[in-house]
Amino acid sequence: MGDEHQRICLVHYHEIGLKGRNRANFENRLLKNIEGIVKGFPIVTVHRIAGRLCVFLREGTDRETALELTEALRILPGVARVSCGFKCERDLEEMGQVAVNALGECSQFETFKVQARRNHTDFETDSMQMNQIIGAALCEAFPDKKVRMKDPDVTVGVEVVQNAVYVYARSVRGIGGLPVGSSGRVMCLLSSGIDSPVALWRLARRGAECIGVHFSGRPQTADTSEYLVDDIAHVLEKSGCIARVYVVAFGDYQKEIMLKVPPSLRVIMYRRLMFKVAEELAKRERAGALVTGESLGQVASQTLDNIRATDASVDMPVFRPLIGTDKLEIIGEAQRLGTFEISSQDAPDCCTLFMPRNPETHARMADVLAAEALLPIEQWVTEIADDAEAHDYSCPSYKPRRHGGKVE
Ligand code: ATP
Ligand code: MG
Repeated sequence: MGDEHQRICLVHYHEIGLKGRNRANFENRLLKNIEGIVKGFPIVTVHRIAGRLCVFLREGTDRETALELTEALRILPGVARVSCGFKCERDLEEMGQVAVNALGECSQFETFKVQARRNHTDFETDSMQMNQIIGAALCEAFPDKKVRMKDPDVTVGVEVVQNAVYVYARSVRGIGGLPVGSSGRVMCLLSSGIDSPVALWRLARRGAECIGVHFSGRPQTADTSEYLVDDIAHVLEKSGCIARVYVVAFGDYQKEIMLKVPPSLRVIMYRRLMFKVAEELAKRERAGALVTGESLGQVASQTLDNIRATDASVDMPVFRPLIGTDKLEIIGEAQRLGTFEISSQDAPDCCTLFMPRNPETHARMADVLAAEALLPIEQWVTEIADDAEAHDYSCPSYKPRRHGGKVE
């Protein structure tokens, strides 16, 4: 049923705060991101139409494929809503018929209403009249269903544009935010834990293109965490928000630190070196900030004093989008994002390696700097960044830089 009409997905976005040139950039960026993400689907084209983006599916595409596409679009940053329906001619009878088809594809509902709008007044029937005419066709086709104006189970949308009409009954909320690539680039410290993928996601949702850096305990530990991070990146890749992950074999450097630095300061030292390496890679990638999954007071290294001691190791701004978020909230977000299961697997990484029994919770800068002076930090940072392995993921907005770290 309904297969004679071309299927479409209308992508709605919020226009609040989009002014002038901003708006064109936003739309172009979102359009490109959509084109990148829908590559595996039977798509004819993607167009901007009357303040929406419309994805046209190939003739004869089935309902399941259209629903999968809706799901893929829904999770893209910048998408406020996705409506899945059909394109038809500007003919009231045909519009009524297509509305019947569209509503017929909704499995469980008791009440509905029609919400018609026209973007061109050259279509002589106004929206009130359209509501009535199409509503009547639906009442006739579904005699046991009721019309309800307030909170109906399904709203049948009818949008008349210049040369066509789009009719849909399925409409799902998108995740909102801004299209990836519209807010610059950030370097995210990505462990295989629960928090950092969520932190990355939050920045991506605000339009930042994200690059990860993962510090593995290799060669002092196995490389399990690297596989988990790769799995996490593949989940994030679905919404086009991660371009690349640098994997750093950090174990030998930690061992050096362990041998030369008092036990209480080791964790701070590891973290300062991690930040410095992340900053170096960020500069090479032209990223403007670092991002971590820290949350205040969660573990020993996340006290105010220690946050200050690690921040002081770099010049770049460090964003901690989860700083005031409770662990349970973070877990909920990780579950929705789809990374929780992966992050819950145990893997030794540099965090579990050479951990002192009593890490310092209130590091003094003087002690930290004195300890650091014993190590060839600058040389290490260059060496580690040079040796970092880059793994690429599909991120439509990203143009790889040739002189990033060592590219495989
Ligand atoms: P997560 O769940 O993100 O691992 P956590 O609660 O385990 O966080 P920490 O281990 O103190 O907390 O790490 C704090 C932050 O430091 C992480 O969110 C991440 O941004 C960064 N980080 C920690 N370990 C690594 C690592 N091995 N590679 C890259 N970044 C890391
Ligand atoms: Mg961790």
